[in-house]
Amino acid sequence: METESKRDIRSLSLEDLRQFFIENEDKAFRGNQVYQWLWQKGTHDFEGMTNLSKATRSLLEEHFVINHIAIDQQQKSNDGTIKNAVKLHDDLIVESVLIPTATRTTACVSSQVGCSLDCEFCATAKIKRMRNLNADEIYDQVVAMDQQSRLYFDRPLTNIVFMGMGEPLMNYKNLIAAIDKITQSEGLGMSPSRITVSTSGIPKMMKKIADDQVRFGLAVSLHSARQSVRQELMPFAEKFPLDDLAEAIQYWYDKTSKSVTYEYVVWKGINDEEEDIKALVDFCKQTPCKVNLIEYNPIGEDKFLQADHDRIKAYEMALEAQRITVTVRRSRGKDIDAACGQLANKAERQ
Ligand code: SAH
Repeated sequence: METESKRDIRSLSLEDLRQFFIENEDKAFRGNQVYQWLWQKGTHDFEGMTNLSKATRSLLEEHFVINHIAIDQQQKSNDGTIKNAVKLHDDLIVESVLIPTATRTTACVSSQVGCSLDCEFCATAKIKRMRNLNADEIYDQVVAMDQQSRLYFDRPLTNIVFMGMGEPLMNYKNLIAAIDKITQSEGLGMSPSRITVSTSGIPKMMKKIADDQVRFGLAVSLHSARQSVRQELMPFAEKFPLDDLAEAIQYWYDKTSKSVTYEYVVWKGINDEEEDIKALVDFCKQTPCKVNLIEYNPIGEDKFLQADHDRIKAYEMALEAQRITVTVRRSRGKDIDAACGQLANKAERQ
């Protein structure tokens, strides 16, 4: 009961913390010390804040709790990928994935518990959206994976992709607050150019982030440049026609001078015909972009099958012929359901 009336100290800004100490007849500077414990050192209890007096620690104890995530379960893929089941303070679970390559370690981070969108091919969409993650829950996933990266791969995280569970642009305020902490020198001090936010394509929010002059990269889950096909795959896209999406992408490019990356899975019999390829090439010609052809990660839906190799090759060649940068991305962590679109707390539900 008592803890419920206490505030989560991590919802306070540095200024709030300084103010708290002034109000409690102490030095504002204590606020900076506490902030460092919370955000730089990742301390999860007041006892551990060893440069504070016992009285100060008790004062904090009296007023606040420290909500934090805990790694509930860890699975390792035979390709080195690590999937974490992350338990939140209210016992809900999200997943985050650490993906090593020869030169990089990338953290794939979740932004919501479940997802409110309805992409037919995505396992997360099968769980309804339960809530947004708080800024510190997003940030904590990154800190936890940074520690894992140092422990297992001997280097800090090099990249972050918001391609875990949820739609990051539908939890915009918390996403931005988390990215601020990730990039600030009082936080992890990472460069925003190493962060990519992936959206299913919500034009209004894409324009907003362009207006806000965010400094991270943007990826858009396109999957088809034909409206009828796209909205079959992603029913919510009926409300966001491709023309609106294209306009938002152009707007983003005009405001940020950064090209968007399109994520694109090729499925057998769904989007592997010549007209699908032509539609994508035409779409790509509108605004500078890159295309990432992603391998399909099965989620147990029979109607979706990875397209044949020669169809993917056909996409690649058609794009290259128009000098559009294209990469084919092999999926990682498939054996532990850690690949794109497979995050659905399988272990938890079993
Ligand atoms: N909601 C955001 C971010 C999460 S999904 C978005 O839609 O972009 C991250 C990427 O994985 C998206 O490009 C998504 O379309 C893709 N994806 C989802 N399910 C997949 C699957 N089963 N196989 C391959 N990619 C998938």
